[in-house]
Amino acid sequence: MSAEALLWRGGRDFEIVTVPLPDVGPGETLVRLTAATVCGSDRHTVSGRRPSPCPSVLGHEGVGEVVASEGGRTVAGDLLRPGHRVVFGVTRSCGHCAACRRGLSAKCATVTKVGHESFAGDWPLSGTYASHILLREGQAVSTVPAAIEDGAASTAGCAVATVMAVLERAGELTGRRVLVNGLGMLGLVAVAAARSRGAEVLAVDPAAGRRRLAESFAPVGGSEGASGAGGARPLATSAVVDDGVDVALEFSGTTAGVRACLDALEVGGSLVLAGSVAPAGTVEVDPEWVVRGWRTITGVHNYEPRHLQEAVAMLSRSGDTLPWDEALDGPVGALDLAAELTRRDVGRPRTVVRW
Ligand SMILES: [Zn+2]
Ligand SMILES: [Zn+2]
Repeated sequence: MSAEALLWRGGRDFEIVTVPLPDVGPGETLVRLTAATVCGSDRHTVSGRRPSPCPSVLGHEGVGEVVASEGGRTVAGDLLRPGHRVVFGVTRSCGHCAACRRGLSAKCATVTKVGHESFAGDWPLSGTYASHILLREGQAVSTVPAAIEDGAASTAGCAVATVMAVLERAGELTGRRVLVNGLGMLGLVAVAAARSRGAEVLAVDPAAGRRRLAESFAPVGGSEGASGAGGARPLATSAVVDDGVDVALEFSGTTAGVRACLDALEVGGSLVLAGSVAPAGTVEVDPEWVVRGWRTITGVHNYEPRHLQEAVAMLSRSGDTLPWDEALDGPVGALDLAAELTRRDVGRPRTVVRW
């Protein structure tokens, strides 16, 4: 038996390669991928905006079925067995360095990442643009119910879990005015999740199509059936931030977006930055304005294992009430994936890949 993978050789140079299935070591789990989804950061890697080891197998969102496991366990502690349907975390951590001991395993001193490792190293099948992926010890794994379709389930490992970490940082949302700036996949999930927690959400993106999509992700009454004040109202959307808010969640990663979020923060407000994952310049902050206004500015990058569990729980509760079909393009097969990754006119937030 062998695996196939799309090897990225730099720039627009890709090649489908066949590799022997790896030996499954202690704590490891071999998964046959049933779907992957294309996250925007992979497009940035291919276009040169994000540095990445090369050659490598890209792709860090995926869902699949366990083929073999040598004592691999879920975050909940359950042993993984062949046939289990799983999603998995993007980071692999050591569990004993200072960052891991502080509960910031995503910032482990020796962190390695799904879809971000050299093909020539000791983890060639690390990405999801392949028929199989090897999950290593120190990586979060969660089983995922059959009711969550492949495309939606696949987004758990990056988009949905990151949003769970962002919302944890944001704190209590019930009855609060929450700005979601940037309506890519993370922004859309944040709109749905914040409304389900009873927030009054303002969704902002310059693209009209994305604002319409956000409305679909915010059914009146709340996507998870919560009866919070916010979920009962139609979603407010805007091309620009034009109102004061208690909480701002920034996903655009632009300095203009960060500026707009800061300017919208009322007294006692919190800003959670999550989109600023590439150099984009600095934003001036007046410390007196922060101090006198009891304001909080914080950042979230990747997430902890519990957030993967929360992501699956959120998808379980709301997955089939959210219009995933409108957010997902594809599916594309292995032969069309290179073209997909170099495409300029990206429409929907995610493209589903089926090997
Ligand atoms: Zn991602
Ligand atoms: Zn560590």
